[in-house]
Amino acid sequence: MEDVLLAVALAWARRGVPVLPLHAPEPGGGCDCGRPGCERPGKHPWLRRGLTDASTDPRRVELWWARWPRANVGLRTGVAMDVADVDSPEGLAALRHLLGGDLPRAPLARTGSGGWHVWFAPTGHGNRVRLLPGVDWRGAGGYVVAPPSRHASGRAYTWVVAPGAARPAAVPGALAELLAGPEPPPRGRPVEVAHPRRYARAALEAEAERVAWAVPGTRNDTLNRAAFALGRLVGAGLLDEATARAELARAARRSGLGRAETRRTIRSGLTAGRRTGWSRAA
Ligand SMILES: [Zn+2]
Repeated sequence: MEDVLLAVALAWARRGVPVLPLHAPEPGGGCDCGRPGCERPGKHPWLRRGLTDASTDPRRVELWWARWPRANVGLRTGVAMDVADVDSPEGLAALRHLLGGDLPRAPLARTGSGGWHVWFAPTGHGNRVRLLPGVDWRGAGGYVVAPPSRHASGRAYTWVVAPGAARPAAVPGALAELLAGPEPPPRGRPVEVAHPRRYARAALEAEAERVAWAVPGTRNDTLNRAAFALGRLVGAGLLDEATARAELARAARRSGLGRAETRRTIRSGLTAGRRTGWSRAA
């Protein structure tokens, strides 16, 4: 495994992708940085200056992995690729929706936490948190953990579509527009979104899909959480309440939930979400 990590790091360096060694999760839990309660186990750089020191020099890469043979492989983004960092099925649905229904033929990794990394051609934009619900953007000044690095969960990052099989995808217009828009506000500030209707629409579709596919035993809870999430958007004036209610009801019927229960759950979820507002819970 350790030789593989070095070999992978070297291969990326030779392809012109700056590499940086990252701490690795300990097999029994925790991070090999040794800090109790490390918040980013297996994800933060060994290098003091972090990303600034990322390198394409094979000799430096060899020295690093000679020193830290178990180091996870970090790849700097914004040079050869930008990466859509998707952390949930909801995020994947939102990204697919934005891309017109499907993922591009491009390098695609499964992350150790069960998310996805979709590789795009570099855009020149920097990192963006919550570009879409469940989707962060890693661009200039960012990095991603690459296969076959280990995640704190014990699982490895793996390729679904290997970089040898596809090139980073061209960034379609809708995605480019979203990236060119202003940053979303930090938590606790009033909401201003570049494309509020598109954002809300993607969230609505993702939540409805989640509800429609919920398995018995989780259906009412899933519906309640979806109604709550959409209620926040309704409260922020980004989504029409009647539309949210109708779509959720349709999805709930598809999942097999009864009418009375559906109506009750949607009403209470939407109301609670509206009261909470959007800025607090994102
Ligand atoms: Zn650590």
